Amino acid sequence: MHILIVEDNALVASGVRAGLELHGFTCDVAPDAASARERMDGARHATPYAACVLDLGLPDGDGIALLRRWRAAAVDVPVLILTARGALEDKVAGFEGGGDDYLTKPFDLQELVLRLRALLRRAAGRASDRLALGDCEVRMDTAEVWRDGARVDVSRREWALLAALLQAHGRTLTPAQLHDSLYGFDLDVGSNTVNVHVHHLRRKLGADIIETVRGVGFRLGRSSA
Ligand code: CA
Repeated sequence: MHILIVEDNALVASGVRAGLELHGFTCDVAPDAASARERMDGARHATPYAACVLDLGLPDGDGIALLRRWRAAAVDVPVLILTARGALEDKVAGFEGGGDDYLTKPFDLQELVLRLRALLRRAAGRASDRLALGDCEVRMDTAEVWRDGARVDVSRREWALLAALLQAHGRTLTPAQLHDSLYGFDLDVGSNTVNVHVHHLRRKLGADIIETVRGVGFRLGRSSA
């Protein structure tokens, strides 16, 4: 799933990015408010981000002001505020500005991942991190797929593709949208790689796991919980 990290401290940004990517997320980093706005605007017309991790002290503005603007423009991407500001009035401003969760620095990466997953679960209207998908069980908490009591070996990209389709809630995603979910906006590896990952997932999990919608793209082929 595709996450936007808004963070001006390069060390924190790369740490968060590396940590989230280890857990199967795809990340874009915006180092200031202007590039965050640009990224979010671009994504709205292509592939909306699954969530945003937002720092408040940015070199060209305040994260809360940015968040208010997004909410006023009906951007409903779940936002987790990650900041050194730990006073109650800051948290009040964060939530009232449209934040969905709030974590103060210094923070534990595991807690950030847990909170992000909870946000994504709620955004997708799921009660559990373990989803039945035909004869497979998809475990969002450990980024694993199980079939017939055994773990299926899926690559990080294959996992990301499956997770993006699950998060899409039965909607059809175009190859370009899936490409962005897998690689972020900065990397262009060609849309045929999406077809290759779909092919591998079908081979490993059953041909009907992903349905081709002719001329449009792909969607989940089995009803999920
Ligand atoms: Ca900062």
